[in-house]
Amino acid sequence: GAKDKGKNRVEFYKEEILGTYTRNFLIKNELKQAVQKEQFHLMFQPLIELGTNRIIGAESLLRWTHPYLGVVSPFEFIPIAENAGLMRDIGSWVLEESFRLTGDWIKSRKDDFQLAVNISPQQFEDRQMAENIIALLHDYQIPPSQLNIEITEGMIIRREQQSLDLLRTLKQEGVQIALDDFGTGYSSLSYLASFPVDMIKIDKSLTMNLDAASNKKIIEAIIRLAESMDIVPLAEGIETQEQLAFLKENACLFGQGYYFDKPMLPEAFASKYLQGDIV
Ligand code: C2E
Ligand code: MG
Ligand code: MG
Ligand code: MG
Repeated sequence: GAKDKGKNRVEFYKEEILGTYTRNFLIKNELKQAVQKEQFHLMFQPLIELGTNRIIGAESLLRWTHPYLGVVSPFEFIPIAENAGLMRDIGSWVLEESFRLTGDWIKSRKDDFQLAVNISPQQFEDRQMAENIIALLHDYQIPPSQLNIEITEGMIIRREQQSLDLLRTLKQEGVQIALDDFGTGYSSLSYLASFPVDMIKIDKSLTMNLDAASNKKIIEAIIRLAESMDIVPLAEGIETQEQLAFLKENACLFGQGYYFDKPMLPEAFASKYLQGDIV
């Protein structure tokens, strides 16, 4: 009846009823205005040195809250934004907002704080990307060596030469480069030699499923590979004491996960992690 109309309206936007095709179409359209309508915000998750429990920085993670759709996961909307050609603008917003929010944190911790920002493959289609990032760092007085950009292997495979040029330009300025979600995609290891990678982020699907014996072997191999190439390993998705113990035994230097903290609002992050130096 009429009484249920409001409820039905909300139900309508749920995936089961809307259908994936229509939902994706709606998301695509709504994303076009999401920056102007200020529907995005950032959360920050601490990056931890496993041997000492010391915080070494934070990963900035994008959140989208839409008036009808509610909170939409980045796992859902980022691929859609990519396909619609929207990740260049959204990615620029993420970078500037990350710098705006963490500039003071970085100054307060001197050279002790890394800001990690995910960069979408589409941002590498912009030949000016490296110059733009460097100019923006300058505007916010952030030393380039304290920015860690997270890229995925998909990007490397897709647009090899231009991506490599942009990465080298950033690298020359001191920007750090992390290979995100490592161990899930093609993992063709040969490009590790030609790309200037500083950190490998072991994908959380490996960390979270240590019961599968082969995953332990894969993680061990990734850590050894990283060490032998002077690349720093960080394990994502640490949720339990057991996972942490295994990673420490295998000399995985850094980690991130719900065991330490979930992504937090910037104010909460600052009051928990940046008041004193001890976690
Ligand atoms: P990612 O870059 O691999 O980021 C880590 C994801 O793992 C985050 O999911 C984080 O909340 C989640 N996570 C961290 N620790 C744990 C844990 O212990 N257990 C579990 N189950 N999950 C954990 P989130 O924030 O939902 O982001 C998902 C993905 O969306 C990111 O994966 C990244 O690829 C993409 N993304 C997020 N923000 C941005 C952005 O600003 N730009 C771009 N291009 N991609 C982004
Ligand atoms: Mg990441
Ligand atoms: Mg990522
Ligand atoms: Mg990842």
